[in-house]
Amino acid sequence: MNELLAQGGARGLDRHGRGALREALHQALDRLRERWRHAREGSADPSAVPAPEIGPEFWEEVEARLSVTPALRVRRAVNATGVVLHTGLGRAPWPREAMAAAVAAARSAVLEIDEASGRRGRREAPVAELLRRLTGAQAALAVNNNAAALLLAVAALARGRKVLLSRGEEVEIGGSYRIPEVVTAAGAELVEVGTTNRTRAADYLERLEDPEVACVLKVHRSNFRQIGFVEEAPLEELREGCREHGVPLVYDLGSGVLHGRGLAALEGEPTVTEALRAGADLVTFSGDKLLGGPQAGLIVGAAPLVERLRRDMLTRCLRLDKTILAALEAVLALHALGEEAALRRIPALAMLAAGPGVLEERARRFREALAPELPAGWSLELVSCEGRVGSGASAETPLPGTGLALAAPGLGAEDLARRLRTGRPPVFGRVHGERLLLDLRTVSEDEEAPLRQAVARLFRDAASAGA
Ligand SMILES: *Cc1c(COP(=O)(O)O)cnc(C)c1O
Repeated sequence: MNELLAQGGARGLDRHGRGALREALHQALDRLRERWRHAREGSADPSAVPAPEIGPEFWEEVEARLSVTPALRVRRAVNATGVVLHTGLGRAPWPREAMAAAVAAARSAVLEIDEASGRRGRREAPVAELLRRLTGAQAALAVNNNAAALLLAVAALARGRKVLLSRGEEVEIGGSYRIPEVVTAAGAELVEVGTTNRTRAADYLERLEDPEVACVLKVHRSNFRQIGFVEEAPLEELREGCREHGVPLVYDLGSGVLHGRGLAALEGEPTVTEALRAGADLVTFSGDKLLGGPQAGLIVGAAPLVERLRRDMLTRCLRLDKTILAALEAVLALHALGEEAALRRIPALAMLAAGPGVLEERARRFREALAPELPAGWSLELVSCEGRVGSGASAETPLPGTGLALAAPGLGAEDLARRLRTGRPPVFGRVHGERLLLDLRTVSEDEEAPLRQAVARLFRDAASAGA
């Protein structure tokens, strides 16, 4: 690789960046090996097939690869906002293991074939198995996202019939996603119970007498909180009535905490297992929120209900891609190692777990590394700041830490923010009065160097513009 990098450099290809060149070389080498393998497989005497040469054709391919990647609109950005699950920045960053699993699956993967028998199996079986183990549920199913999970659950259980939902849980999650509209889109009729601020178990129970009611829906409030004269019917008080009438109780939990007892920020958030124990027959949650993995919608609960969902035609429409299934399996396998390992090895959880001491030390080192390049009159200071979980869990809970506040004479914070956003790599900070705040909580260790380079480039550009 070093030899190839040197040759690539001599051809001027390292102007695309050494990391990009290395990546392109890896990819081109893989292709070369692949072609060689094909040639050998198709040959009567494989040992006589000569090893391929690194010739002009190879370098043309490397160059072509380099020209595409930088032009892509979806590219790596640095999230220095301190909001761990930032929807605009792709929510949970995947664990390394999940990325590797997805890349491997992208080529070809054991998907629907059982290796031992050679027969067709279910593509999401390993994920379902892990979910059962992790949550104690009888059965599990994975679809495209939590919105899809809820749509599927309501459609499969209550299409053409009625769904009970508290007026206090008619949540809008963001833009086009409103729970009452999902119920309607699933072909069910929404029956509102209770009032905006108070809904009691009795409000549900009297409606359960109606034989047309096919499902009771509970929704985690996620992005808002009610205070004052409020009341909510807990799952425990609904389970009896639901059982009695044979009506399934579905809980849209949103963020899906599997582990998190060790995280102060998630205090009071029910885990998936707790929701099941409290009486939910089905629980739905996201893959890319507190699970810390790829976008997915996970459904766990009673086996006969999960089977009804699985057999619904919508399941086929909402199914996951092989790369996502592979990544999801890897993330769940990390969770299966236990809470301590999960908090260390799943980046989203590690970011939530990062304590003020660690963050202050990182900020201090970051500042020291950049101090010599700071243009005259600029300031980069350590300040106390608060991060957020994001994406609806513990919406209000602050995550105390230390960030870096950047200020420049004659440049407003908005200006600084725009310059960093449009830089390479794009960096997203938080405007904090007159200063731009960079919170390292949401910056992984291997993103620190690119972030430093982006800030140093901002310094240099400003210095040369001023000169
Ligand atoms: C986030 C959230 C959703 C949407 O989940 P996606 O995986 O983004 O589709 C649905 N319901 C609740 C309660 C949520 O918090």
